[in-house]
Amino acid sequence: MADEKKKEKKTFKPYKPGKMCPKCGSRMAEHSDRSSCGRCGYAEFRAPAKK
Ligand SMILES: [Zn+2]
Repeated sequence: MADEKKKEKKTFKPYKPGKMCPKCGSRMAEHSDRSSCGRCGYAEFRAPAKK
């Protein structure tokens, strides 16, 4: 087909390297207030910003 419908654009978000899990060495997921490891469950909470 000439007019092929545009497929879902797969855009890759610029993934900034996050923290590495100190327990298993896996990359941790960045959350707004914490980083967590999806592999072993380790979570590190960010220090709350002082107001
Ligand atoms: Zn881990």
